Amino acid sequence: MIPERLTAAEWLARPEVQTIFAVLEGDAGRTRAVGGIVRDSLIGASRDGADIDMATELLPVAVMQKAKAAGIATYPTGIEHGTVTLRLGATSVEVTTLRQDVRTDGRHAEVVFGSDWAADAARRDFTINALYCHADGRLYDPLGGAGDLINGRVRFIGEAARRIAEDGLRVFRFFRFSASHGGEQFDAEGLAACQDAADDLDHISRERIGSEMMRMLGLPRIARTLGVMDQFGLVRIAPGAGEALLRYEALGGASPMARLALLGRESLETRQADWRLSNGAVSHAQNIADAAAMLRAGDVGWAAYRFGEDAVEGLAVAAAEEGWSRDRLAETARDLGRLPVAPLPVNGSDLVARGMKAGPEMGAALAILERAWVESGFLLDKDALLDRIFH
Ligand code: ATP
Ligand code: MG
Repeated sequence: MIPERLTAAEWLARPEVQTIFAVLEGDAGRTRAVGGIVRDSLIGASRDGADIDMATELLPVAVMQKAKAAGIATYPTGIEHGTVTLRLGATSVEVTTLRQDVRTDGRHAEVVFGSDWAADAARRDFTINALYCHADGRLYDPLGGAGDLINGRVRFIGEAARRIAEDGLRVFRFFRFSASHGGEQFDAEGLAACQDAADDLDHISRERIGSEMMRMLGLPRIARTLGVMDQFGLVRIAPGAGEALLRYEALGGASPMARLALLGRESLETRQADWRLSNGAVSHAQNIADAAAMLRAGDVGWAAYRFGEDAVEGLAVAAAEEGWSRDRLAETARDLGRLPVAPLPVNGSDLVARGMKAGPEMGAALAILERAWVESGFLLDKDALLDRIFH
């Protein structure tokens, strides 16, 4: 059962949150928390450090003025659509003035500010995302989102096709929330509308898609959902990767970078462009994929030496890709954990001290030393290593 009041939520009891509510006339019902924080607190699934969003009847300038007067730091992070970020102590809250769309062209919404809570709810995407919480923990649920939440139903607000025509990103959000809150079951109307719209989403910003996808790749269960998205042409999955993704989550993995590696090493570059991924993210995923390839080949020492911590993620990826038995996984994990991995204790100047000149010869010598080092299990000391070259 969904409670009518949020009492146990850690964030709600925080003095900083209560101060912000008080400053923004939350007691009079003019400001309420909304979105993910409310939804996830209701089902006991909110994560530490989750974003806190609030909706308010107060105009953005009033939010800024009142907050400043109370000594709360203010940042006009999205002031043109009515969003101000407030920061008090370690708590930061995004406060957005109630708005109503007057015109949309599928990408940009022109907004006017309002004080109509039902209208604010109606312009959100899914009923489970239109749940509000008063300063005292009372729930405001104008669209029956709480019922849908317990039933795991990710239901568009209003007519799905029309809501997708307003903002095509909602197709990706439908899949993300069906994976996180719908047990990877899909509301029939929503699914049909997503399928109809799937060929016509080229105009959606890649950053927005990438951000939804990366959030999705960090969820516990997404393999089935990705399979459906693949059928609709919304995501490309390399042959064989579907089963690997299933095995990966059966092992309890939920790392977005490992998921990227599993989706296909060859396709990382196109995916970077499609989802506007950072170079850091792509090289992280690449390292995990490379570590996994070494582990599959039995080169545990090399994987650990070259990729350090990424080899641990590579382990789950390798196991998922090849369908390892629990025993093989446990054994390889043990080997990996036991290795006293350390950098090569010999460098170019050690070689120069022994009379070698910089150049191709030195490069070759260092490669031999590196191999001896890794293959010894990181046990040889400097002299023993140098003896391999200068005997
Ligand atoms: P999460 O816990 O994943 O952050 P969230 O519900 O907070 O989930 P956000 O993407 O942070 O999701 O968005 C905050 C809220 O803004 C949503 O709950 C929803 O009410 C509204 N929202 C966000 N994106 C859209 C959209 N494209 N169309 C309509 N409403 C949206
Ligand atoms: Mg959020």
